[in-house]
Amino acid sequence: MPELPEVETVRAQLEPVLTGRRFERVEIHDPRLVRPYEPAEVAAELEGERVAAVERRGKYLIVRFESDRVLLIHLRMTGSLRHSSSGLDGDRHRRAVVRLDDGSDVAYRDVRRFGTWLLAEPGELEPYLAARLGDEPLETRLTARRLGGRLAQRRAPIKAAILDQRTLAGVGNIYADEALWRGRIHPRRPAGELDDAELARLVRGIRAALRMGIERQGSTLRDYRQPDGTSGDMQREFAVYGRDGEPCPRCGTPIEKIRTAGRGTWFCPTCQPLHIQR
Ligand SMILES: [Zn+2]
Repeated sequence: MPELPEVETVRAQLEPVLTGRRFERVEIHDPRLVRPYEPAEVAAELEGERVAAVERRGKYLIVRFESDRVLLIHLRMTGSLRHSSSGLDGDRHRRAVVRLDDGSDVAYRDVRRFGTWLLAEPGELEPYLAARLGDEPLETRLTARRLGGRLAQRRAPIKAAILDQRTLAGVGNIYADEALWRGRIHPRRPAGELDDAELARLVRGIRAALRMGIERQGSTLRDYRQPDGTSGDMQREFAVYGRDGEPCPRCGTPIEKIRTAGRGTWFCPTCQPLHIQR
């Protein structure tokens, strides 16, 4: 599933392609993408819109139009966007295509079909996102103290807490495991029990893991691809994710796999102890 670094990579690649361009023709082939609205109606509404900016909030991609309407795209499990100057045909997983006024296409592909496109009218976006998303982890307003305030009294495992998009926007299963390893925090520690030093390590760990993901242009798992058709190489940099039995890069202890928050979870039992001596 694309997380913040993957969506940011998509955003950065689409920005120069889309900014200033007009949506000349829009085809939406899959009703699930825009439900409860009619695909033909949404497509007709999008035609003629000119792109002012391409932004990201959490795992959402935001295509902002000059009209102040926005197209809010969530890739969910397997959504991806592909830019092509020659047109892409014969892909049965292609769910929508936007023809731009320079003759190029942006195609939306989604094997599992959980992705969504929502056309929001001016003023609708901010309340929609505010109800669903917490702090942006790479923005300076997220501090250890602020995160601690959000986690106080919470008995949920810290991994579940940082996967909750209303607490932190954009962290998913991969970067949660990587961030907790960097912060030397066991994924099952009760969220409200982290002390100031642990919270500071966690915030640094989250930022470092996400930044490395962005630097490596996201990870490539299953059929995720960037808009230019290339793959990221973050998956080669994982310290723990998917590496059960391999040595911890810090201490050499074999990485263990458990289930936490309903998700496969990888950690180092030496660097990330569950019981802390204070
Ligand atoms: Zn270790």
